[in-house]
Formats: sequence, structure tokens, C-alpha cells
Amino acid sequence: MHNHPDSFGEVHLNLNVRGLGVSATVAINDRSNELIRRGRDVIKLGLGQSPFPVPESVVEALRENAHQKAYLPVKGLYELREAVAEHHRRTFGIECTADEVLIGPGSKELMFLLQLAYYGDLVISSPSWVSYAPQAQIIGRNIFVLPTSIESNWQLTAAQLEEFCAKDHGRPRILVLNYPSNPTGCTLSHGQLADIAEVARQNHVVVLSDEIYGKIHHTGQHESIVPLYPESTIFSGGLSKWCGAGGWRLGLFVFPKSLRWLLDAMAAVASETFTSTSAPIQYAAIRAFQGGADIDRYLVRSRRVLSALGNLLTRSLEKTGADILPPEGAFYLFPDFSPLRDKLRRKGINTSVEICEKLLDDTGVAILPGSAFSRPADELTARLAYVDFDGAAALEAAGTVPEGEALDDDFVRTHCGRVVEAVDRIGDWLGSME
Ligand code: GLU
Repeated sequence: MHNHPDSFGEVHLNLNVRGLGVSATVAINDRSNELIRRGRDVIKLGLGQSPFPVPESVVEALRENAHQKAYLPVKGLYELREAVAEHHRRTFGIECTADEVLIGPGSKELMFLLQLAYYGDLVISSPSWVSYAPQAQIIGRNIFVLPTSIESNWQLTAAQLEEFCAKDHGRPRILVLNYPSNPTGCTLSHGQLADIAEVARQNHVVVLSDEIYGKIHHTGQHESIVPLYPESTIFSGGLSKWCGAGGWRLGLFVFPKSLRWLLDAMAAVASETFTSTSAPIQYAAIRAFQGGADIDRYLVRSRRVLSALGNLLTRSLEKTGADILPPEGAFYLFPDFSPLRDKLRRKGINTSVEICEKLLDDTGVAILPGSAFSRPADELTARLAYVDFDGAAALEAAGTVPEGEALDDDFVRTHCGRVVEAVDRIGDWLGSME
């Protein structure tokens, strides 16, 4: 290869990244922080970052392992891979051993390696997370987007997948499923999962099941698709969302035995790029995946807070006239402001980007446009990540309310006030338009 500008011979420039800007989630966070630095009052509902602190026992494990300084194995620390395998067997019924686990610096990086190492097309539904398609674009893969609607809970149906696959049966493909969903908070039922698994099986589709929000299903009833389609599903998860540790960058894949070659191929690429994931973080992660009563309590409280807050916000957004579904997991809402299209148009707002830009300018509320999630530009959808509140205080307060009792609106207004205020600002802003 002669692709270094200083070397002699032909220079090959890869143009795949042309036109790609910084990822929407990262860009809105940087922009919000910059506005705050300049003195603006911004409520940050852009980046999907857990509001909760890392559980104390996991932080303690990190302290104890701060001295770990050696490069670790490229596939991950073996004890961690064992803890991950055990955890996923116990929690989601995924039959696996440490040998099928791959650790990486965030599941986002592992997804990129997967697309690099696997030769198939990328199939996603829309709306879906901001980075699946750009990663395929960078690598130069074909991208197929299957649109969904609010009527189907913004979820792909088995019938849709079947129709799509019928056009070219058996073609190599990776289908990304993501539930509970970023950006909608909706999830898939057992029946829906079983139907999708059956169509995937008949068409030899590799499924990447991004279940990183599974452990913050609001009633703790997340079901993994892996046991329904064990032969060709790769499970994706990590510490970022359920353990409040986005910045720790610890992601994981669990592979079916039949795709062991793919794990090995990804590890080869990893060995030429990041070498291994941060050592102290991997040691601390063992503690997180071993779990225990303190972590169970933390999860129960996290779910209760997210559920109560998500439901109050849904009611508030409904009152603005937007179409919206209540969340079943994660910390996202995906309102569609299309019913307000006429009055928005009179303000010069015709796209989801314009609604988010104007909202940020006028009210200081930062959210992301539906177009960042593969929706049509002129659809007036947007994602709210309802995370701008003091998660530590909210968890502590939730612990004082008996477990059988739902957290009421007063609780939410007291402990998640910034987010409630953000949605009030959106309502006032829309209400002030004639
Ligand atoms: N997954 C989160 C989000 O969608 C974090 C940022 C990212 O990696 O995109 O906001």
C-alpha cells in the first residue's frame, strides 16, 4: 500500500468520510457545553448519557485497580469475559462461555469493527441510532433503511423484513435490532421477537442485537432475542447505559459459536488499532457484571425514576399536540410535531433540523432532530434524552419511597426539575405560536 502522502507511488485517498460531520450526539453535546461556557442557560437533552452515578462498589473496584498498567489481551481480560458470560447466561438466558465474549472500548467501536470485518449489507430500521449508517458509509457498505411508523411503535415488523429479504434471498446481511430503542424508548414483545427471529433464520440474516438499554427496561422485563435465534445473533451491550459509565468506554459483544471466525477477525483488526481496552476499567467492570444486592437496588431505583419521569414528560408533550408514545425503557422520547406543522411553517420551520435549531435559540433546550436518526428531513420528529438532572440525588430519594409505590409527579418535579422545565419550555414555545 502506498497511501502515505510522503511515500512514492500512487496515493489512494479514501473518500468515504467525505461529507460526514461530527456525529450528531457528540456535536450537540459539544455545542451545548460551549453555549453554557458562554453563559447560556441550556437544558441538555441532546446526548444520551445516563444521569446516574456509577454504583459505589464499582467505583471502589476502579480505585483498587488504578495501578493496573499492563496491556491486556486484545479480546479482553479473561476474568472479565468470564464474568460477562456468566452475567448474560443468568440475566438473559444467553448460552455462552468466555470464549464467545469480545470486550472493546465501547460497543460503538465494536460495531464499527463488525461492519469492517463482515462482508454483508447493513439493514437498519428508521428511526434508529445516529451512528449505524455513518459507520457503514465510512467502510463503504450498502445501507438499507426500512422505515417504521408510530403505528407500529416505531419498530420493524417481521413482515417488513420478510418482504425485504424476499427480493434477494440469502444475500449476506447484518440486521441491526435495537430495543429498548434509541431514539424512541419503545421495545419489542416476545411475539414480535420470535417472528423476526423466524424470518431472519429463513433468510440466513446475521442479527446484531443492540440491547444496551435492556437492563433499564422500565419494569425490568427485557427479553433478549438471542435464545430465540442463537445460531446467528450477536448480542451487543456494555456498561454505558445501565451502569452510568458512558465515559468509561466499556462495551461487549457475545457471539454465537458459528460466528467465532468473525470474533477472531474483529480481534485481529482491534490488535492493529486500539490493542486493548483500558486495564483499570476492565478490572472494575468485573465487579459490575458480578452484580450483587447493591447493584440490584441501584437498577430498580434507576428504572423507577426513568419510568416516572418518562411518563410525566409524555403527558406534557401530548398536551402540546405532538404525537408521542410512552417509553418502555431507556431514557428517550421521540415526539412527532407534525400535527403542528401549519403553525410551525408560519414561523419558517419546515424540517426537524429547523425545529431543533429554533428551539435551542429561543428556549435553550437542546434536543436532536429526527433526521439524525434516519428519518425524512421534512418530518417534524425529534429525540429528547431526558437525562439532565442530578441522578445521584434522585436515586437516593427514590430509595425512601416504598418499592410497591410508583414515584408520583411531585417526586419527579422535585428531583428531575430541569427536564420537566425543558418540556414546559417546549410547550410554552409552541403555545406562543399563532
Ligand atoms: N448512544 C448515546 C446517544 O445516542 C451516546 C452517544 C453516542 O455514542 O452516540 O446519545
